[in-house]
Amino acid sequence: MDKINRELLHFISASPSPYHAVEQIRLRLEGEGYTELLESEPWKLTLPGKYYVRRNGSSIIALDLPEGELPGFMIMAGHSDSPSFKIKETAPVQSAGMYTQLNVEKYGGMLCSTWLDRPLSAAGRVAVREKGRIVTKLVNIDRDLLLIPNVAIHMDRGANEGKSYNPNVDMLPVLGSAELQRGFDALAAEAAGVEEKDLLSKDLCLYPRTPGTVWGAEEEFVSSPRLDDLQCVFACLEGLLAAKRGESGAVLAVFDNEEVGSGTKQGADSSFLEDVLCRVCEALGKSPAEYRAALANSFMVSADNAHAVHPNHPEFADRNDRPKINGGIVIKYNANQRYTTDSVSAAVFGEICKAAGVPVQRFTNRADMPGGSTLGNISSAHVSIDTVDIGLPQLAMHSAYETAGVKDTEYLIRAAAEFYARSFRRTAEGIEI
Ligand code: ZN
Repeated sequence: MDKINRELLHFISASPSPYHAVEQIRLRLEGEGYTELLESEPWKLTLPGKYYVRRNGSSIIALDLPEGELPGFMIMAGHSDSPSFKIKETAPVQSAGMYTQLNVEKYGGMLCSTWLDRPLSAAGRVAVREKGRIVTKLVNIDRDLLLIPNVAIHMDRGANEGKSYNPNVDMLPVLGSAELQRGFDALAAEAAGVEEKDLLSKDLCLYPRTPGTVWGAEEEFVSSPRLDDLQCVFACLEGLLAAKRGESGAVLAVFDNEEVGSGTKQGADSSFLEDVLCRVCEALGKSPAEYRAALANSFMVSADNAHAVHPNHPEFADRNDRPKINGGIVIKYNANQRYTTDSVSAAVFGEICKAAGVPVQRFTNRADMPGGSTLGNISSAHVSIDTVDIGLPQLAMHSAYETAGVKDTEYLIRAAAEFYARSFRRTAEGIEI
């Protein structure tokens, strides 16, 4: 396995929850000389400077600010969350007189069947009492802990003819026997390094334990949980860190809660990005008019994985726009603006990819299929700047084990490094990049 795919799979396996993904990004940024800015305090910035801001521990914005007038921002955005099952606050339930299971709810729209018959565990964060304060701790119960068993074919003869899954009945994982000596909260407290009596509340989700792998006759494919969207997040982060500093501010925004519509205080439908960009401009002494001019000279790449043509079901793809695994970055278009791409933003991003020597391909939904949505248009409603929606081609989106190409991550790293070194300037004559 090459270095990039090894590092990608390491990043994903160390990020079993959005809180862990943000912690991985934070550690990487700290290692590269970035300093944290707290939203709860006034900011003093020095230029050039590298900073990051976290919100809720599950969203993060990194800023590499150059010396000089700061004409605008070059922004890449992705999401830290993936579909999963949230473990309810009062989780343990007894079943069939012989098992302890965990009560769960769906988080996002997953392919339910893929979560069955594979080892799972729980990760996220807990709120605990510590020295008279409320603090949060990351939790990863780092072992094979849970499993949701299928019903045998002999008892469910229709299982292969289109099965529906009731999350309240079919998706509860088994934790152990009915006679457990220690409950789930004791395990969570132990993983957090605290006493159970200090545990106040939990944000924990299931995650698949199956490690990522590179496979195929010529090792063409990489499969792992959470490729959507941690593959793009990883590539944008590496691109940011590899980029030559340009004239504009380089920004990486990783938002939580994309899978449930982004409408949270830390989601793309919040004030987070707007607050950060506005406060940067204020701290640098820019007037409100100069802030708005900086936004007009900014550009955003919304990076979230795209659907490759499926080997068994090529008919689900458009007749012309047919993304191929290892075929390069996918630019996504949608007439109803579920994707933000328009001719201008596609041209800007296409030119940057060309300069980086990175192939691009196009995605549109079949005209009779609505398709998905992402965070580009949601973020654009708050920070209204030119935006392109892109992604890396993948199969089995929202499966517990997704598949992508071994070459595409590097393409996005290279494109991101080229993007961050550029500026986007709108003049009376046209756009300069
Ligand atoms: Zn996504």
